[in-house]
Amino acid sequence: MSPSPGVADTLIHARWVVPVVPTGVVLENYSVAITQGRITGLLPQHEAAGIDAQDVIELPTQALLPGLINCHGHAAMTLLRGYADDQPLMPWLEEHIWPAEAQHVSERFVADGVELAIAEMLRSGTTTFSDMYFFPNFTAATAERLRMRCQITFPVFDFPTAWGQNADDYISKGLALRDDFKHSDLISIAFGPHAPYTVARDVLARISTLAAELDSVVHIHLHETSAEVLRAVEEHGERPLDSLHAMGLIGPRSQCVHMTDLGDQDIQLLAASAAHVIHCPQSNMKLASGTCPVATLLERGVNVALGTDSAASNNDLNLFGEMQAAALLAKLERRDATALPASQALAMATINGARALGREQDLGSIEVGKLADLISVDLSGPETQPVYNPLSQLVYACNGSQVANSWVAGERVMIDRELVHVDLADLNVRVSAWRERINGGGK
Ligand SMILES: [Zn+2]
Repeated sequence: MSPSPGVADTLIHARWVVPVVPTGVVLENYSVAITQGRITGLLPQHEAAGIDAQDVIELPTQALLPGLINCHGHAAMTLLRGYADDQPLMPWLEEHIWPAEAQHVSERFVADGVELAIAEMLRSGTTTFSDMYFFPNFTAATAERLRMRCQITFPVFDFPTAWGQNADDYISKGLALRDDFKHSDLISIAFGPHAPYTVARDVLARISTLAAELDSVVHIHLHETSAEVLRAVEEHGERPLDSLHAMGLIGPRSQCVHMTDLGDQDIQLLAASAAHVIHCPQSNMKLASGTCPVATLLERGVNVALGTDSAASNNDLNLFGEMQAAALLAKLERRDATALPASQALAMATINGARALGREQDLGSIEVGKLADLISVDLSGPETQPVYNPLSQLVYACNGSQVANSWVAGERVMIDRELVHVDLADLNVRVSAWRERINGGGK
């Protein structure tokens, strides 16, 4: 039975509503009605006055928008934020990050690191995140407990780590996890082969077959640097994107992360195959990896979403910073100030993310029938005044700390910047203990 239009669980009256679809639209003095976790009304405030709601929320200085979607990260690595900086990608990984992970990563490390990441992401407007890391069972359980929406792509490597012995072990554990969470309303599980240079070709081919059978997403670091592409050409005689395409791994269920080294043929292939690109501008800049040609990809019809990557290579999980970086970098790359306008940057952090995750029917915009994953952003502070155009403020002036409220499936999980399910004082004690342990080198 569909809910009556005259009643709602929650009614939010906002100064501005930015629905994201249609692009560039800002609705003034609008209201959003929520019933049973979904958006059941989007209408002018004077028309909403007659709706009978249990919970009525007035946001006279705030903009209401869809929750942001962080399409790439390694949440538990928040515990390594600032541990090793100012290093190129491979020495950073091989000499710093991988040894620290080998010594410290455990179930507890992941549970605490993910809780820290979720606290940070909710407080900067993210309501859905994608994750690829060890012990994904703990990431899934933590996200579900803290009521955050998450796409978990279980990692696959050729070598042993704290979570698995070999590719077969990772895949069987990942598929078991997929079964465990198949009825979850918040968690989805998919394949996360780390990269073409850390997973053998026969394993990638097997993942391709399994993913096709299960109609599952495949999320992979790809063309992160020119050196990666060059090495693959020397070893296999072809570019990694072409190798994956030949294995059937490039298509509408593929999430290709980074994609900084792209020629015209690569872009053509991405457009023709309807694969998704996940752009991580701050990580790419910090590791000096390269530049993803975002404006060109979008012009050619490729769906490009945004990710923060980990807090060890960013060093935050704040999509407001990522929207701003994406817009500014695209303008610089094209030497064109009109490239990647604010409305497009916001779309990348919302509806494009929903498309990349295969969830555009439910997420990424404020439309009747979609899930009520929403955030409100207070524009009354000096850093966002005066407001000529809320879209400009959101992308070019906000730093994430203006996010006041968040809802996931209609549940208000942050109220006036207070997280409902996270005890920050208790979390800080655990995080400090990790810092001492990692600094001291002990287990
Ligand atoms: Zn990554």
